[in-house]
Amino acid sequence: MQTLALGIDIGGTNTAYGIVNRRGEILMKGSLPTTGHATVADYIAAINTELSPLLEKLGRDNVVGVGIGAPNGNFYTGEIIFAPNLPWQGVIIPMANLVGEALGIKAILTNDANAAAIGEMAYGAARGMKDFILVTLGTGLGSGFVANGQMVYGHDGLAGELGHVIAERNGRKCNCGRYGCLERYASATGIVITAELWLAERTDETSLRGHNGKLTARMIQEAAQKGDTFALELYEYTAMILGQTLADMVAVTSPEAIVFFGGLANAGDMLLVPAKKHLEEQLLNIYKNKVKILKSGLPDADAAILGASALAW
Ligand SMILES: [Zn+2]
Repeated sequence: MQTLALGIDIGGTNTAYGIVNRRGEILMKGSLPTTGHATVADYIAAINTELSPLLEKLGRDNVVGVGIGAPNGNFYTGEIIFAPNLPWQGVIIPMANLVGEALGIKAILTNDANAAAIGEMAYGAARGMKDFILVTLGTGLGSGFVANGQMVYGHDGLAGELGHVIAERNGRKCNCGRYGCLERYASATGIVITAELWLAERTDETSLRGHNGKLTARMIQEAAQKGDTFALELYEYTAMILGQTLADMVAVTSPEAIVFFGGLANAGDMLLVPAKKHLEEQLLNIYKNKVKILKSGLPDADAAILGASALAW
């Protein structure tokens, strides 16, 4: 019986992997650098060198397959498409095929936020739910939509880009070339941009002054935890933009819950309590007091591996 799945999370710097059982327990894990390989073929060779002996030991017949989470991953084609944060830019990489052939097991790929959503559904906060939205608040903002018990992939496999929904018309310029995208406000990057704009405009006392362009979301979190009112106001503003945009999203899929994941979500109540308040204020009447706001149920360090592995089942 196939009782194990391999999960691989391809990040911009590191590629993490783990062997996971059906209960979502990681039995073995490790990582290798994503960078430093001259070609994609070299990277695949490194994955093979790292993982083939492991699969040999476990017995390939015991492993149902490998699930891969990657930025700009397309579930239908198994390709990574023009991922901006990976070393091989401007190319389409048939990653699922390459990894599957190298390791000799079935391979399935999706984007990292969809993998996180599937992980929450399989082992985390959304267990048993058929309708929810997963929002990852990291450097950027990723999302996965589950509706009627299924991941929403869209006709081309690229659905669910909440980070690039317009939160403010003609607002901040986004890396995607458009203006006012949600992730320019509600992400670790976004809250730092807000802080720097406010520091330039305002004169109120805050411990966040004087970092000369080196301010981080973590510094803002630490200041807010110490009661810095400027930092708390940053969370309130970020939560307002997030809550307003999510209220619009609720009108599309009517989710039972919105599950938050990632670095900025670790601020917990400082962000999620005001986000819930603004969401409720902006929701259409028929949705009010129905949508749960939840923090990820997956352990932070292992969530990406768990999410990827859940794809394989
Ligand atoms: Zn954008």
